[in-house]
Amino acid sequence: MALFEINNLTKRFGGLIAVDNLSFSIKKGEIFSIIGPNGAGKSTVFNCINGLYKPEEGSIQFKGENLIGQRPDQVAKMGIARTFQNLELFAHMTTIDNLLLGRHLHMKANLGQILGLNFRRSKAAKEEITHRRKVEEIIDFLELESARDQYVSNLPYGKQKLVELGRALALEPELILLDEPAAGLNQEEREEMVFWIQDIRDQLGVTVLLIEHNMQLVKGISDRILAISFGKKLTEGTPAEVLNHEEVIKAYLGEVV
Ligand code: ADP
Ligand code: MG
Repeated sequence: MALFEINNLTKRFGGLIAVDNLSFSIKKGEIFSIIGPNGAGKSTVFNCINGLYKPEEGSIQFKGENLIGQRPDQVAKMGIARTFQNLELFAHMTTIDNLLLGRHLHMKANLGQILGLNFRRSKAAKEEITHRRKVEEIIDFLELESARDQYVSNLPYGKQKLVELGRALALEPELILLDEPAAGLNQEEREEMVFWIQDIRDQLGVTVLLIEHNMQLVKGISDRILAISFGKKLTEGTPAEVLNHEEVIKAYLGEVV
């Protein structure tokens, strides 16, 4: 059985069909990528998965459970974390507080406890120790020690993207959705990001659903690729199959990638 499965998904905005009868499935442990030109509907697929948008038609299932109609926080609790195309971090908080907040937003605790205020010796205090330990593990894993106590706004963009990745990992997801994690990064940062994505799958065993505009980036790391254009599936297969597909090349023609 597939870990994750979308069937006949359609999402409209007025007269525009952003996602058009799309189906695909992902196996546990895969790095599965969705590619397509700008406006193809990639981010809309993510927004349907994590409960920000409600699709008009189709089904989305994770471990056999239906996701449509669930709120973003419920989807996160089920084990699906995500990052955004445009950074969504608390810029005026430190790296560690962003990770703690990411974890707590989906677990029980109040904001005071998260930030260490009114810290009581109680069950909540014990839970807090567990949360902090987990977050320290992630900081260690992503080699973010030097950024740990810095305000996110003071970090280079590449590090900020890593903090966002760390915040998603803090939820201990089974499936992580990454929306253009390398967008805006320079060549060196991009290569580093590729390395982290592989490590997340290889070391942490997290299944990865990656959206990427840049075909070269997905080529090396994806087990399978789905190419879409105008919300529709063009083709699906191994990187070699998809990137050499005539329809895919045509869809990208004239675009700088
Ligand atoms: P991609 O991520 O592949 O670049 P998007 O999923 O962001 O594409 O967008 C697909 C299409 O849906 C685009 O034409 C976009 O303008 C439109 N779209 C996305 N979100 C909305 C929205 N909230 N309201 C209206 N149109 C939207
Ligand atoms: Mg997008």
